[in-house]
Amino acid sequence: MTNQNISNDEFKEIHSLMGMLQNLDVGLVVLDREYNIQLWNNFMESHSGMNPYEVRNQNLFSVFPEINQVWFTHKAECVFQLNTRAFTTWEQRPYLFKFKNYRPITGSAEFMYQNTTIIPLDSATGQVERIGIIVYDVTDVAVNKLELKAINSKFKQLSRVDKLTGLYNRGYWEECLISEFKRAKRTEQPCSLVMFDIDHFKTVNDKYGHPAGDVAIKFVSDALVNTIRETDIAGRYGGEEFAAILINSTAEQAAVFAERLREYVEQSILEYQGIKFNFTISLGVAEVASGTQSHNEWLDTTDHALYYAKEHGRNQVHIATKQKN
Ligand code: GH3
Ligand code: MG
Ligand code: MG
Repeated sequence: MTNQNISNDEFKEIHSLMGMLQNLDVGLVVLDREYNIQLWNNFMESHSGMNPYEVRNQNLFSVFPEINQVWFTHKAECVFQLNTRAFTTWEQRPYLFKFKNYRPITGSAEFMYQNTTIIPLDSATGQVERIGIIVYDVTDVAVNKLELKAINSKFKQLSRVDKLTGLYNRGYWEECLISEFKRAKRTEQPCSLVMFDIDHFKTVNDKYGHPAGDVAIKFVSDALVNTIRETDIAGRYGGEEFAAILINSTAEQAAVFAERLREYVEQSILEYQGIKFNFTISLGVAEVASGTQSHNEWLDTTDHALYYAKEHGRNQVHIATKQKN
């Protein structure tokens, strides 16, 4: 549909609408049935850099190739056919028209976030032959909301992580343990737990000082992170106690991992303020068995294996005997 089909009355009506919206801080675009641009207001002109005469009768999708045609026409067709309004929100898609964001306060946003309302413009025949797109700049709201979301997720992350090591803290690690226990039971995939503790750590603290002890704890946690796979879940269980959930690993596979870690720690020499020192770790391993009733039982079994390793000379790995029903 072209301009010739628009009656004088209709033009007046659209112009009065344009008049109302010309100086408001919202965009208005009038499209015909073929999605050709008929009119747009100052807002559209200043943000697109194109005046209304330049774009007149040009197709919306050729002027703005970034608009997803299938998505937009799906919305707009409802307006044409049902004579009802439709909406797009920045949360669905950040914008309809890709305009730069010039707002000083929300300058961090690269583009203008937009909500839009698509309204039917009735013709004399009662058929919707044109639609209007009203564009709202919602950059302030969107940026605030996104920043809040980012802060919340940062807080969430911080509340899960131990400050010294960057590993999950006990609380969050135990939540992971519960879900991995359930998953292992449901899928019947093997899953193993490794718990370990630095040997005679009180002596390390006493001989070299608490800060040297902290270096040792950080060293062990780095060694742990570098040894496990990305899908495994490591945590600082207590002061110098660590735990790792090894997904899809049998007790034997977990013991290979544990032995590698034990050897690595045994062979490493640390230095704090020019003084060299070393230490060892003891490890307990247990796989979820068909008879394991709860994550607590799994944890206890692993802890007992660790205790056994301590009792039998330290600096060693002990695997819990598998409990069957
Ligand atoms: P064992 O071989 O039986 O494990 O002997 P241990 O000396 O390691 O015994 P225990 O587990 O009872 O000692 C843990 C010590 O770890 C006590 C505590 O002062 C120290 N510790 C706990 N958290 C930290 C920490 O964050 N930094 C330092 N430097 N020391 C810590
Ligand atoms: Mg210890
Ligand atoms: Mg301990």
